[in-house]
Amino acid sequence: MKITFLGSGGGRFSAISQRRMTGGFRIDNLGGKNYHIDPGPGALIRTYQFGFDPRNLNGIFVSHSHTDHYNDAEILIEAMTRGMTKHSGNIIGSESVLNGFDKWGPCISSYHQSKSNIFPLKPNEVSNIDKIKIKATKTVHGDPTGIGFQIDYNGFKLSYTADTDYFDELSDYHKGADILIASVLRPGNKSINGHMCSRNFIDLINEVKPKVAVMTHLGLKMISNNPVTEAKKISKKTGVKTIAAFDGLSFNVNYNNPKRFRLNSLKDVQSSIHSTSHSLYENERKNSYQLSFKNNEFDEMTMIKKNQR
Ligand SMILES: [Zn+2]
Repeated sequence: MKITFLGSGGGRFSAISQRRMTGGFRIDNLGGKNYHIDPGPGALIRTYQFGFDPRNLNGIFVSHSHTDHYNDAEILIEAMTRGMTKHSGNIIGSESVLNGFDKWGPCISSYHQSKSNIFPLKPNEVSNIDKIKIKATKTVHGDPTGIGFQIDYNGFKLSYTADTDYFDELSDYHKGADILIASVLRPGNKSINGHMCSRNFIDLINEVKPKVAVMTHLGLKMISNNPVTEAKKISKKTGVKTIAAFDGLSFNVNYNNPKRFRLNSLKDVQSSIHSTSHSLYENERKNSYQLSFKNNEFDEMTMIKKNQR
């Protein structure tokens, strides 16, 4: 299994300013399947930028109805279903994300829900998808139906708190996690309504005792405060290796020994394609057509043919 962060920023202002990317994270090769979690603004672009292909997704998870978590979900669903032409994949989300609740959502249209298996989950509900078991975890956040996830693959547990305040039973939901990924918006004791700060994360780590902890969804205050130093402090206080996510962070998970991994920093593989160099243009055009033929993506081709009649 490989975990890759297509963004490590979070919160409204971190997202609007794109001081950090907000594409959520991918879990690849989990029992041979690939999943995208909380695809915020830019998730599609970051997918390609870091060398992934959204068409090989088997599932999309959306924790709650805030744009920094759901914004690119529909376009990724289109990728997963080959432009809505094939029944494919799983969409897992909160009540609000899939059905709408009060003023929240739905964030994914019924059209976009029509070609995949749909799993609206409430806290403590469990669903079996592909080879994994997914338990929804409770959150205390703006969206009252928001959830986090605990993914269980043959007893190996990956927990994601999503956005939540720290609360007494939070650790119960994430008990047994080998890897604990959390939204930690602010450094130190600077707690804010609906979000955890480092202090809260330390308490959660001490209670859950994961093998590895990762903090992501970093707000502007956290980013300005050097998240790497903050993560080192948390590691020291908890004795649990804690990583501050960064844009393009990727690591392989060793199921037998999750503490052993090497952090990789992915490069922007699309930088040459997106350059304004005119010499690249011809090549790029040719490749685009060849690639779309290869992937059976004919919308441009059929339009050309119609125009030629
Ligand atoms: Zn949120």
